[in-house]
Amino acid sequence: MTGGCLCGAVRYRITVEPTGTTLCHCEDCRKASGAPVVAWTFFPGAIHTLLTFEGREPRLLEFAGRQRTFCPCCGSPISFYDPTLPDQFEVTTCTLDDAWRTSPVDHNWVCDRLPWFDTIDDLPRHERETR
Ligand SMILES: [Zn+2]
Ligand SMILES: [Zn+2]
Repeated sequence: MTGGCLCGAVRYRITVEPTGTTLCHCEDCRKASGAPVVAWTFFPGAIHTLLTFEGREPRLLEFAGRQRTFCPCCGSPISFYDPTLPDQFEVTTCTLDDAWRTSPVDHNWVCDRLPWFDTIDDLPRHERETR
């Protein structure tokens, strides 16, 4: 799958199929994106070999022991990696060129959900994280 940021400076390619997509309500994702919820698509395997960047290298931010990347020009959040879970990584679903191909299967960190934000669906809602 391929994707990229808002301004087009960062382009990426992933050479493995996704395992699923989740909607994350956690405070860290909300702060990092400026949005009430973030859709993340999960991929199996090692991020450094399976996720390759073309064009500009993204900016790496280490926060709370997790690694997030962003476009250095426009700020789009691109990827998420938790070194304690080395066999998976995530990219923001909405930076995928074919974001429509993978729809969310659940909600995570609903304990952090803003009271004024909800979606109309029957997906499982997990108080914290399930992966
Ligand atoms: Zn950009
Ligand atoms: Zn989150």
